[in-house]
Amino acid sequence: MTSSVENTVECDLLIIGAGPTGLFAAYYAGFRGHRVAIVDSLPELGGQITAMYPEKQIFDVAGFPSVKGRDLVEGLVAQAGTAKPDYLLDRTAATLTHDDDGVTVGLDDGTEVRAGAVLITAGIGKFSPRALPSGEGWLGRGLEFFVPSFAPYAGKDVVIVGGGDSAFDWALNLEPVAKSITLVHRRDAFRAHERTVQQVRDSSVEIITKAEVSALHGADGEDGLLEAVDITVGGEVTRRPAQAVVAALGFIADLGPIQQWGIEVSKRHVLVDPSMRTNLPRVFAAGDITEYAGKVRLIAVGFGEAATAVNNATVAIDPTAHVFPGHSSDV
Ligand SMILES: Cc1cc2nc3c(=O)[nH]c(=O)nc-3n(C[C@H](O)[C@H](O)[C@H](O)COP(=O)(O)OP(=O)(O)OC[C@H]3O[C@@H](n4cnc5c(N)ncnc54)[C@H](O)[C@@H]3O)c2cc1C
Repeated sequence: MTSSVENTVECDLLIIGAGPTGLFAAYYAGFRGHRVAIVDSLPELGGQITAMYPEKQIFDVAGFPSVKGRDLVEGLVAQAGTAKPDYLLDRTAATLTHDDDGVTVGLDDGTEVRAGAVLITAGIGKFSPRALPSGEGWLGRGLEFFVPSFAPYAGKDVVIVGGGDSAFDWALNLEPVAKSITLVHRRDAFRAHERTVQQVRDSSVEIITKAEVSALHGADGEDGLLEAVDITVGGEVTRRPAQAVVAALGFIADLGPIQQWGIEVSKRHVLVDPSMRTNLPRVFAAGDITEYAGKVRLIAVGFGEAATAVNNATVAIDPTAHVFPGHSSDV
């Protein structure tokens, strides 16, 4: 899933965002016979699912009574693969200009993508984790913001910081793998599902509230690994062994450059009409990023919007085409 740097890319449809919506849109673009490129600022495909909950079961995707996040992404990537998309990963769409014949999108590595139409499936925007103030300089030396797989935590003393769903999900999932889990939260109320909180309370996880991880300690030097943390409760500091700290403090989502493209945005979402058209010609949007009356932000909704957007973009690319694609089962 890596990509190479090119100076110019030409395609019929450029998709900005390789989350579930963008991946399904890529399949659909292929079904409509388009050459398709997908850009994403993350190095991996799958958007929020890959970044935040690859190991969680999802229960509300049509046709799957229960599917692990990672498995859903794998299926979407295989389906998108039928369109042979040009993946432009680890790059952010920075500029957008349009003319009568198409749209030009500039990426932050200097690549220029020329497309007949653009579909923005940028979700909550380019997202970055909220920093752990005491963790500066420790990223990759024991401090992580994501838990994409559990194996690296085997046999370790793990400290998880946060009181939301991710903190509790990771505590629960890592508990059978790690040597010990301590969950540290600065308040005594949690934002996670009650059922998960109860499951964690019933497990061997130690929960410390009204507390903060005030310092990280380890071997000296740039590559020195984490060995211990200080946990401060009511002014009292306790040092305990820790080889891993997972900071699950939420994300700062930033629409970033998209806001400078002249697209109508409301509260960090792109306004669309029922055909998923934005106010700019040849520019469509789908998935979590869109806004209209009654909008619901779910994977299932993004899939429907992707199909609507790609079929309407098809007419923008080729005015002689029909919006309705016919049934895939007839092909
Ligand atoms: C913990 C958690 C659990 C969830 N559980 C469920 C669930 O059970 N069921 C459900 O339906 N939904 C669930 N959701 C919500 C679901 O993940 C989202 O609705 C879905 O991911 C939206 O997909 P998307 O493709 O529209 O956007 P995203 O998944 O956000 O993907 C957007 C992509 O666009 C990229 N991007 C943004 N800006 C740029 C740019 N300028 N240039 C290049 N790339 C850019 C981002 O890097 C990202 O990869 C959950 C969310 C979370 C956080």
